[in-house]
Amino acid sequence: MPSSGHKKTFMPNASTQLTRLHIHNRLIALAVLMGVGILVFLLFFYQSFSSSLRHEKEAQTRSLSEAGLRVLRHFHQLGETGRLSPEQAQQLARGALESATYGDSGYFWIIAGTGTLLVQPYTPERVGADLSNWTDIQGKYIVREFLATAKAGGGWVSYYWPKPHAQGQYPKVSYVLYFEPWDWVLGTGVYLDDSRAHVTQTVLQASGILLLAFAGFVLALVLAARYFLRQLESIAIRDALTNLYTMRFLREITPSILSKQQRDGHRLLAAIFIDIDHFKQVNDRYGHDSGDQVLKRVAQVMTSLSRAGDFCVRFGGEEFVLIGFFDDEAAAVQVAERIRTETARLSFSHRKTQFQLTLSAGIAIYHPGAESFDDLLKRADQKMYQAKEQGRNRVLI
Ligand code: GH3
Ligand code: MG
Ligand code: MG
Repeated sequence: MPSSGHKKTFMPNASTQLTRLHIHNRLIALAVLMGVGILVFLLFFYQSFSSSLRHEKEAQTRSLSEAGLRVLRHFHQLGETGRLSPEQAQQLARGALESATYGDSGYFWIIAGTGTLLVQPYTPERVGADLSNWTDIQGKYIVREFLATAKAGGGWVSYYWPKPHAQGQYPKVSYVLYFEPWDWVLGTGVYLDDSRAHVTQTVLQASGILLLAFAGFVLALVLAARYFLRQLESIAIRDALTNLYTMRFLREITPSILSKQQRDGHRLLAAIFIDIDHFKQVNDRYGHDSGDQVLKRVAQVMTSLSRAGDFCVRFGGEEFVLIGFFDDEAAAVQVAERIRTETARLSFSHRKTQFQLTLSAGIAIYHPGAESFDDLLKRADQKMYQAKEQGRNRVLI
């Protein structure tokens, strides 16, 4: 019976290398994609978070201005009801708002409708001055704008103004309100650079925490992926039925086998190709399960007679190959003969029927520089086929 397995096509090593390259490229693409994703996310986060912080700050400023206006109303009321003279009421109202500073540089200011500065806690020397023709560094007549905006029901005015404890003018935005009974404009505001610095600091802190959490997540993901990859690899390295190495694994380690051959130049690299004789009959007569038992036992014989450093591989079906280094041809033949005789001594039983079987083996010694690893396997397979032709149950080299 001719062996049908020996006509297997030998895949070039390039295919596994291509697969690796493929995975490598995909991993890089995934990392780039994730990096871009994180950047987009942080950008989006910065935008939305900073705008919500700004809105919150603006809302706070506006309600502070409104609270300031209620203070004016309170003192005005005291003046109206006669508990304070009108001058006293105005004096106390100014004093109250002057001392109501908040935060690092938050304060209330009041300008009379005539343009006179009435309250400004950080530049007391300016109090009493007429600011109606005062312009900021951009040439804006700010008092006119304050009055117009305040009289129109209140609102935001942006301008440049000196900052407490600092030189020069800084961009500021104030919420201004008009107190008609006294013809006063009251306002309080935020310096834009302060608020920007605050927003940036908060956003940086938040994104730092986010980034840290994300890094932890990625680390956990990588560790999990490595664990599962190892599991998968061990599945692919060993054949499930016989526990011998798979052909896939042999392809992976072929380069290292060949470089070991180069290093130990004096030792012979040999392939012993093994095929069970008339194995199809075992399946036919005793069932597929018995066939499986046979494959397991023959694999055990192979493993027990091979040495550490040899590779016992399930080539496919009922075909095996042993790759090993030997001092000479005779040593390789000896190992193959021992596997053959041990297998022939095995006894199997199926429903009280005992049966035995044999195997044929072909050996090829690697010719460094003159052939590829696949050529070596092919020659061993051909030798095994010749052993079949010569009557099976034999080893040929
Ligand atoms: P020869 O002496 O010429 O090698 O004959 P053979 O019957 O051993 O060779 P053939 O290639 O005709 O048959 C091999 C059989 O091995 C056919 C296939 O059903 C069987 N086989 C392949 N893999 C397995 C397996 O995993 N389990 C079992 N039970 N049978 C298998
Ligand atoms: Mg076969
Ligand atoms: Mg066979």
